[in-house]
Amino acid sequence: MRIIALTCPSCGTIVAANELEEAVLMTCPGLECEETLGFEQLSEADRKHFIEHLDQYRL
Ligand SMILES: [Zn+2]
Repeated sequence: MRIIALTCPSCGTIVAANELEEAVLMTCPGLECEETLGFEQLSEADRKHFIEHLDQYRL
């Protein structure tokens, strides 16, 4: 299974795509980082792959 994750542009924290999908918009979990991260910030190819293989990412 391909790992799909978003890297926070402010602090470099890596957030898994399945966490993004659930929260829709979330505040970065990085320490003292208030960046808002969302599923939309993933690349188009990553979003497409994630949606097509959603059952693999839901635990
Ligand atoms: Zn961050």
